[in-house]
Amino acid sequence: MHRRDLLRLLIAGFALPVSAATQAAQRITGLRSWYEDDRLRVVLDLSGPVEYRTFELVSPPRLVIDLTNTHLDAVLPAPPMPDGPLRSIRSGLRGADTRLVFDMNDPVRMNAFALGPDEGKGHRLVLDFQPFTAALAGKAANPTPPTRSGQRDIVVVIDAGHGGKDPGAVGLKGEKEKAVALAIARLLAKKVNSQPGFKAHLVRNGDIFVPLRKRVEVAHRRNADLFISIHADAAPRRTASGASVYALSQGGATSTMARWLAERENHVDLLGSERLLSLKDKDPMLAKVILDMSMTATITTSLDLGKDVLDSLQGVAGVHQKRVEQAGFAVLKSPDIPSVLVETGFISNPGDCRRLIEPRHQEKVAGAIFEGLHRHFQARPPQGTLLARMNESQSA
Ligand SMILES: [Zn+2]
Repeated sequence: MHRRDLLRLLIAGFALPVSAATQAAQRITGLRSWYEDDRLRVVLDLSGPVEYRTFELVSPPRLVIDLTNTHLDAVLPAPPMPDGPLRSIRSGLRGADTRLVFDMNDPVRMNAFALGPDEGKGHRLVLDFQPFTAALAGKAANPTPPTRSGQRDIVVVIDAGHGGKDPGAVGLKGEKEKAVALAIARLLAKKVNSQPGFKAHLVRNGDIFVPLRKRVEVAHRRNADLFISIHADAAPRRTASGASVYALSQGGATSTMARWLAERENHVDLLGSERLLSLKDKDPMLAKVILDMSMTATITTSLDLGKDVLDSLQGVAGVHQKRVEQAGFAVLKSPDIPSVLVETGFISNPGDCRRLIEPRHQEKVAGAIFEGLHRHFQARPPQGTLLARMNESQSA
């Protein structure tokens, strides 16, 4: 078939005609998914070529793919990013056919195409989910629903560093930073959610790659009061040990270590600078002034909060630096959301590494981070939150 005709068929979502030889029963042997910039890619590994048909349903938005004479022989993965466009994947049997349903949070466009065996991989069906740009822009403000008392929760977006194809730093015996970060992030989310007046959202809740820009987007979508990124990087020197906390710097990094870490973290991908959509129509000079002012205020709050977290960490992990350091980490570049990056220890240090992979120590570290941020918000609760209300009624 001509390539252009094939493309037209795929876009129209019609059944793809295949030769009689491919009508034999096939199996879906695996499902993989990851994000690449704005696009979510889901790959179905297949035992052979299959016939398929895609269509979409609205309210709630779903994308459906029917695979003819195909049996699902794999576990459906949890959505790679709970706050991403894909909410869940379901499957159903229709006679000898398998139907996969992708429940979406946002309207997206799906492009499906088949790949034959290549480079050690077998038959595959690739599904690319691309957000509608207009839909994304309209989705920017998603206010936190007020609690029963009419006061909203303090929203903490927790970002486990690295993931998927990016393992982060690796310890002497192959311990992976991405696993340590995820374990501590999950424990921290649990603690935050168990505190009345607080709500946590995890950027990733699995071993998947999420571009840095996407991580910051989750914080904006959730109207976060705090974005906190969890890491356990390697240090240039093996002897370096203990926890450290970073806030963004507008100028240079406060130490060589700060610069070194930021450069390594950022090389994964780079963040587009402007985040405030409301600045779009403003005079560019004015927009820059507003952005700078907002950024300065946000950094001040981040430093303040970071100090509370660092003080709490001192007791459980030791600290590498007694002050909050500053560097140009891409994930901290929200002009309006206080953001900190916590290095829970150095995976390159044998002592730190041994502790970091221990569940009991991870629990202590998560507890200390929570204690620090709780202390900060207790002293300075954001307006309109349940915590602010409780403070008012106490002092009234
Ligand atoms: Zn890291």
